[in-house]
Amino acid sequence: MSEAAMKEASAHDELGTVVIGGGLAAAHCVHALREGGYAKPITLIASEKEVPYERPPLSKEFLQGKKPAQELEPFLAGWYADADVDLRLGTTAESIDTAAKQVNLGGSATVGYESLVIATGCRSRLGGRDANMDGWDLPGVYTLRSLEDSTKIKEQLVSGKNLVIIGAGWIGMEVAASARAAGVEVTVITPDKVPLATAMGSEFGSHVAQLHLANGVQFRFGTAVSGIASDPQKGLVVRTATDDIPADFVLLAIGAVPNNELAVAAGIDVGTGVVVDERLRSSTPNVLAIGDIAEAYNTTLGRAMRVEHWDNAIRQGKLAAATILGRDESYDWLPYFFTDQFDLGMEYVGDRAADDEVVVRGDMAVGEFIIFWLRQGMITAAMNVNIWDVNDHLRSMIGKHVPAPTLQDTGNDLMAL
Ligand SMILES: Cc1cc2nc3c(=O)[nH]c(=O)nc-3n(C[C@H](O)[C@H](O)[C@H](O)COP(=O)(O)OP(=O)(O)OC[C@H]3O[C@@H](n4cnc5c(N)ncnc54)[C@H](O)[C@@H]3O)c2cc1C
Repeated sequence: MSEAAMKEASAHDELGTVVIGGGLAAAHCVHALREGGYAKPITLIASEKEVPYERPPLSKEFLQGKKPAQELEPFLAGWYADADVDLRLGTTAESIDTAAKQVNLGGSATVGYESLVIATGCRSRLGGRDANMDGWDLPGVYTLRSLEDSTKIKEQLVSGKNLVIIGAGWIGMEVAASARAAGVEVTVITPDKVPLATAMGSEFGSHVAQLHLANGVQFRFGTAVSGIASDPQKGLVVRTATDDIPADFVLLAIGAVPNNELAVAAGIDVGTGVVVDERLRSSTPNVLAIGDIAEAYNTTLGRAMRVEHWDNAIRQGKLAAATILGRDESYDWLPYFFTDQFDLGMEYVGDRAADDEVVVRGDMAVGEFIIFWLRQGMITAAMNVNIWDVNDHLRSMIGKHVPAPTLQDTGNDLMAL
């Protein structure tokens, strides 16, 4: 064997990092590894056939036809080849053998690792196994997690059609706004009294309800869905305790379920997600977890948490790379997320609890305001609505004690608080 051939053979035998996922967290992890000078092999195992893409536009700009699929990729397809990342699209990791340090890809195909990063994210919660609801699998009932899902829903967004959305969380409300923009008649059903009740509480939830009502969205609050049925005359009907609501199509938006199964089967500790420490290391040596799947210990908040947000997926992808590269970094940032619905844009930072005091700065009726959440006088979270370039400052205010009247008084310069 020639020297060059021997070198190539040994390069192929060398173990490096395998990332299972193909979402945002995975993409940022492999990117940060190469940017950080990691020279060993990197393999990215991705179930979906598309190059890793961003999901937030799937319920917003992509669904509204304002952004094409090609603009959703954080790194262009060519980058993976240029960076010598072995990107295996349309490939599902079927099991992990932690003793042999290899990932099984089905049949006899395996890939060995020195470090393994689990970034399998979440899937949409369905009826059946995930929730007690018949008919969730009928034609015309959609969920939204992937580009493929969003593409199918987009095809249904035809003016005058009736869409029933089951669930008033982020995805339900964002799709409601996108569907109204296309002239679709939208009814949102939720067991809660306002949208986003669990995520944000009643003050902001009421504001979002008013915004949607003003834009023609109808709500069924305090209403549980028992099932979905197909009716020869009406198309689909969504069954509630009081009546049947007809629909041309239905979006089931009742949350997401972490794809924990691989880790559970491999004997890795799993709680609400894969349990990892402040450097994203799991209970099994050389196995990390990142993004929506990771239940990670946050050093600033002093507890473990699983966060299903864009910013977290990016940052944890980079942090896992730092851990693999031997850098002394940890999960110390506060949760952050954003939404866009009709003419409302907002950013949230912090860690509110349901019973925190709510302090509003500005006029909610005007639509430009900041909400602070306080626990025993300390700011736990803040949200800027249609006010921009303040979120970094709000982040710096978390943990401070500022009296509620001082926060409320718009005569006080926010940047000086
Ligand atoms: C429609 C939508 C809108 C959103 N909007 C916002 C927003 O406005 N703001 C915000 O902060 N966040 C938003 N999010 C959340 C954000 O997109 C997620 O937090 C982020 O995508 C998580 O990234 P991830 O890489 O951890 O997981 P995912 O994006 O879920 O990616 C995981 C990938 O792993 C693949 N996979 C799973 N199992 C295997 C396996 N065994 N083998 C190989 N591959 C596997 C999956 O197919 C998937 O492609 C939104 C999410 C959705 C779905």
